Amino acid sequence: MGIVTHANLLIGEDQNALTKRAHELAAGVVCVHGGCGRCENCRKARLLIHPDITVVERDPGDAHLSVERIRRVIPEANIMPTESERAVFIVPNADKMTTQAANTFLKLLEEPPLRVVFFLLGARKKDFLQTILSRCNVIEVSDSGKPPEIPEAAEAIFAAFMRRDAIGTANELLKFEKAKREVLEPLLNGLYALFAKQAATDVRFASAAKITAEPASQLRIGLNFGAGHIIGTLMVRLNRLIM
Ligand SMILES: [Zn+2]
Repeated sequence: MGIVTHANLLIGEDQNALTKRAHELAAGVVCVHGGCGRCENCRKARLLIHPDITVVERDPGDAHLSVERIRRVIPEANIMPTESERAVFIVPNADKMTTQAANTFLKLLEEPPLRVVFFLLGARKKDFLQTILSRCNVIEVSDSGKPPEIPEAAEAIFAAFMRRDAIGTANELLKFEKAKREVLEPLLNGLYALFAKQAATDVRFASAAKITAEPASQLRIGLNFGAGHIIGTLMVRLNRLIM
């Protein structure tokens, strides 16, 4: 969970899920709408041909990301993005950098170039230098095959909505008006999953799913909305569906 800042660490055992998530988040950075899926930036990001998204792979023949490879990132990262507001560097297997490479990368994180967002990918947090960890926003990525756990609170909101209980829905939601993003994001994702599952049988749930997906994606791309605002809007819009 977590929002995108200039330095992000994506942690997960599933390499494919990590790569997929990194490219989704990268699209969210280069698109002015936060990853609308329709614009030219999104299209290029999806096709992996966006000039402002760079994947830092190890050099051929190297077992790990070498210090030479990381050194070459420094001038690249200091060039202004060409088609977007910000450039993105995705570093797969960042947990397998040589120590020297990691220390060189650390300097980059300590004095980050303007308009650059880094995504470091790795299996386990413990494989990263503490100094790198402390500078990164950590985003846990669950295995692609495993459905994410749905928080109990999401079930409670869903149950109240199912009963067409507007006050109950509001009360359950209001417990989160001061929640941190780390709590809010899984809540919204869980609620979305529940609504989406029902949407096949009842159109009301399709609207509810849509209403819930919106703030969830805003949170994902790091737009600066407070929990109070998100919960308040959600409450009004969901209750409109119940009434
Ligand atoms: Zn877009």
